Amino acid sequence: MSWTIEGNTGTWEIVVGLEVHAQVSSQAKLFSGAATAYGAEPNTQVSPVDAGMPGMLPVVNAYCVEQAVRTGLGLKAEINKVSVFERKNYFYPDLPQGYQISQYQHPIVGKGELILDMPDGTQRPIGITRLHLEQDAGKSIHDQGHDTTLIDLNRSGVALMEIVSEPDIRDPEEAVLYMRKLRSILRYLGTCDGNMEEGSLRCDANVSVRKPGQPFGTRCEIKNVNSMRFVARAIEYEARRQVDILESGGVIEQETRLFDSVKGETRSMRSKEEAHDYRYFPDPDLLPLELPDDFVEQIKATLPELPDEKRARFMTEYGLSSYDAGVLVAERETSEYYEEAARHGDPKQAANWIITELFGQLNKAGKSITDSPISAADLGKLLSLIKDGTLSGRLAKDVFAIMFETGDAPDKIVEERGMKQVTDTGAIEAIIDKLIADNPGQVATVQKNPKVAGWFTGQVMKATGGKANPGVVNEIVAKKLGL
Ligand code: ADP
Ligand code: MG
Repeated sequence: MSWTIEGNTGTWEIVVGLEVHAQVSSQAKLFSGAATAYGAEPNTQVSPVDAGMPGMLPVVNAYCVEQAVRTGLGLKAEINKVSVFERKNYFYPDLPQGYQISQYQHPIVGKGELILDMPDGTQRPIGITRLHLEQDAGKSIHDQGHDTTLIDLNRSGVALMEIVSEPDIRDPEEAVLYMRKLRSILRYLGTCDGNMEEGSLRCDANVSVRKPGQPFGTRCEIKNVNSMRFVARAIEYEARRQVDILESGGVIEQETRLFDSVKGETRSMRSKEEAHDYRYFPDPDLLPLELPDDFVEQIKATLPELPDEKRARFMTEYGLSSYDAGVLVAERETSEYYEEAARHGDPKQAANWIITELFGQLNKAGKSITDSPISAADLGKLLSLIKDGTLSGRLAKDVFAIMFETGDAPDKIVEERGMKQVTDTGAIEAIIDKLIADNPGQVATVQKNPKVAGWFTGQVMKATGGKANPGVVNEIVAKKLGL
């Protein structure tokens, strides 16, 4: 993809790099044993460490370290055997320590790669610069009335993985593909639940514009874009804003901006701090983090098959198109459902039925695949009933609708409701004979123009309640009318 803006002075392209904060799926915080459950009563999950009490000592949570390494491996990235926690000093009312423990010069994960699956079936790699571990801050609540701001420290100290991309993205839609793919990998790994509504996955977008071939322009960072839909809209708005400024002779100030999803625009929040403003220094309460020799190897041995490999396997093993395979592997549960259905029926048909029929019904019912009323095995059985001629495609859709409603198995529905396809040629012949005798006008028309023979097929379908095998009907009609 290449996305450009046509201005008065020529064509502009955009350059985007994403910084994503992914909350580690861990029951305890990064440096304390306090709980992390979402939606708890305010300030009920706060240890003295998270409240910034004097004299508190952080103790690193090994489970969170393991999840960061797992994520690094999933992004095909270098794992650094030694990394360092540093203090990033700044003031926020909801940051009681007065600093955030983060990693700066020595992150736990270095360079990696994420592959975008483009709509045209090609792939495009986006560089991962680094992944580091850091603490989340608390939350200020401004909307409870009383002219006061309340502070909830439940989130304070929760483990985040900050995943930074190279400025390789050139299109707002690519940023969305990047976010979707990253979310998919995190969920396969089980290291982050990817829930954007609950804030488990947040995206800061760095955006600049330039004339093709020119060096990178000055960037602005759009903070905390919290839905897939807004990622593209925020980037597009910001790029146009920058082009307007540059074309009217202005310069871009490097700054942090906020996306207002109601107005659909970004607005200035603060001018960008330089790294030296934070006075980073290694946290004296924490030793450098050294991973034991076999730590990484042991995690590597437990990695699941990830979306890229699974997609490639689905294409070779089941003959699926890259698009279909991509859709089916995006969520681990969907890919498992698919493989189970494909074991019972035709793999390509299984893909079609899941992507069109099942997803359609699930969407309408607001359900996810894990609470599908139709089990994967039952969908597979339905496909085998089409294959062995028991059901026509049309009847199968009716049976499918009943399955979705009742949760019953397809063979039971076919049996109880007499929905078998009629392939008995004797019965079909009798109906056609009668149609020919009763409709001499139609016979003459069809004999003159065989293209309209469908009228007979339609009549037979009507007479059998859609149960006649259309292939058999067409054959007999053609034979009897000498077409
Ligand atoms: P900082 O530490 O100030 O946040 P980084 O160098 O870590 O700066 O970059 C942060 C993000 O900005 C990265 O995702 C990077 O890809 C992106 N980025 C850097 N330069 C540009 C640019 N000129 N235009 C767009 N994005 C950029
Ligand atoms: Mg940054």
